[in-house]
Amino acid sequence: MRIIIVGFNAAGLSAAINARKTNLDAEIVVYEKEKYLPYSRCGIPFVISGEVKSFQELMEYPEEFYEKNNIEIHLNCEVTSVDPANKKIHVVKDGTASTDRYDRLILALGGTPRVPPIKGIDKGNVFYVRTITDGEHILKAAKTFEKCAIIGGGMVGLEMADALSKLGVKVTIIDRKTQILPNLLDEDMTRRILPEFSKRGIRLILNGRCTEIIGDKKVQAIKVNDEILPTDFVIISTAVDPNVLLAVKAGIELGELGAIKVNMRMETSIKDIYACGDCVELPDLITGRSSCFQVRTGADSMGAVAGVNAAGGYSVLPAILIVGMLQLFNMQIAHVGYTERQAKQRGIIPIVSIVEGKTKADYYPGAKWIQVKLIFELESTTLIGAQIVGEEGVAMRAIFLSAAMTNKMTASELAKLHIGYTPPLNNHIEPICRAAEAAYDNIKICLLQLPE
Ligand SMILES: Cc1cc2nc3c(=O)[nH]c(=O)nc-3n(C[C@H](O)[C@H](O)[C@H](O)COP(=O)(O)OP(=O)(O)OC[C@H]3O[C@@H](n4cnc5c(N)ncnc54)[C@H](O)[C@@H]3O)c2cc1C
Repeated sequence: MRIIIVGFNAAGLSAAINARKTNLDAEIVVYEKEKYLPYSRCGIPFVISGEVKSFQELMEYPEEFYEKNNIEIHLNCEVTSVDPANKKIHVVKDGTASTDRYDRLILALGGTPRVPPIKGIDKGNVFYVRTITDGEHILKAAKTFEKCAIIGGGMVGLEMADALSKLGVKVTIIDRKTQILPNLLDEDMTRRILPEFSKRGIRLILNGRCTEIIGDKKVQAIKVNDEILPTDFVIISTAVDPNVLLAVKAGIELGELGAIKVNMRMETSIKDIYACGDCVELPDLITGRSSCFQVRTGADSMGAVAGVNAAGGYSVLPAILIVGMLQLFNMQIAHVGYTERQAKQRGIIPIVSIVEGKTKADYYPGAKWIQVKLIFELESTTLIGAQIVGEEGVAMRAIFLSAAMTNKMTASELAKLHIGYTPPLNNHIEPICRAAEAAYDNIKICLLQLPE
C-alpha cells in the first residue's frame, strides 16, 4: 500500500508515525512545500525572545528518525492538484512538474495567516507569524528596528508582543475587539492581565481599527482610529484560514465553516482521501457544533486517527474539546471548552463562578494567586467551560478540567472532588472546588426561581 501525505508538520507528522505503527510494510511518502523537516511552530515566539537558542532546536526529530521509520520525504515540493479518479497527485519542485500515485492520500495542509483588508498591507517590513522563515525575518527586524505594531490581540499576537518586548522593542498591540484573547477568555478574566502590558511599556489599543499602513516601499507608520502611529515593522496576527484550495479543486466537500469536512475516521467525501489538522473542521465535544480546532494537540490527535485508518487500521475521533494555553509575561493562561460568551451565542444558559485562590498554603513562602472561572450549563449542571489565569499551576488544572468536561462532570461532583494536599504544593482549599461550589449554589438559586 502506498500512502501519500501532503503537508508535513504537526498533523502530517502524526499521520506518518501512526501509519507506520499500524502498517510496517506500507510505503509512506510525504510532500512538503517548506524546506524544513517538521518543527514546532509553537516555539517560534520563544526563539525570537531568546529563551530558545535557535530555530534549529524546534525540529521535532532528526533526519535519521525518518530514515529508520522508512518515511520517504520530499521537501520544497508543492502538491498543485489531486486527481482522485486516477489516484494521482501533481507536484512542482523548483519549477519542475511530476506526478505520483497513491492508494491512500492524507491531506494535512494546515492553515495560512489571513491578510486583513488594510490599505498598504503589501509594504516591506509587514510580517506574518507561521513559519521559521517568518520568524527569521521578524528576529532580524527586531534586532534592527525600534518600534513594532502588532495587529491582533489573540494568542500568537500576545506571545509575539511578550517576545519582542524582552528584546527591548517598543510594541503597540492593536485589536478591533474590546478585549484581548477573545477566543480564550471572557473580559472579566482579562482584568488581572491588562496592567502587565503598561508595566512592560507595551501600548494596548483595544477597539482599534487599523485602516492603513503608511510608507513609501516600507512601513513608516500605521493609521489607527485616525491616529498616525510611527512604526518600523508590523506583525499581522489576526486569524488563520484553513488551506482548502487543493481539496476544493479535487472535488472534496467542505463543511459549514469552510474547512475540509471529515467523518470521525478523518475520511473526506472522496474515498481513500483523508484530512487532518488545521485544514479540517470537526464537531466540538460540548454541543457537537462544527469547529475549526487550530491547536497543536488537535492536529496531533486528528493526524493519528488519519494515519491509522489510512494504513488499514481502525481509529475514531468523534469530537474534539478545545484546550488552549499560553504563557504571557509572568502569567499563565488557559481555557477549556466554551467561554461564557460562546455558551450564550450557542443558546446555552450558563451559570458561572469566578474565585481567586492560592497555589500553596496561604502561609507558605512563594504562594501565588490563581483565578478560576467555571462555566456550567444550567439545565444539566455539567461543566462546559473553564478559564484559569495565574502565576503557576495553570496548565495541569486545565488538563484536569479537560478530563472533567470530557466526562461531563457536574458542579456538585466537582465541588466534592477528592483532592490531596501539602503546603508547598497546593492549598487544602482547591480553587476549582470552590468555584464549582459557588456555581452549584447559583444553580440551586436559579432552579428555585424558575417558573413551574
Ligand atoms: C507562532 C505560533 C504559535 C503557536 N502556539 C501554539 C501553542 O502554544 N499551542 C498550540 O496548541 N498551538 C499553537 N499553534 C498552532 C499550531 O502550531 C497549529 O495548530 C499546528 O501547527 C497545526 O498543524 P497542521 O499540521 O495542521 O498545520 P501546519 O502546521 O500549518 O502544517 C501544514 C503543512 O502543510 C504544508 N502544505 C500546505 N499545502 C501544501 C501543498 N499544497 N503541498 C505541500 N505542502 C503543503 C505547509 O507548508 C505546512 O508545513 C501556534 C501556531 C503558531 C503559528
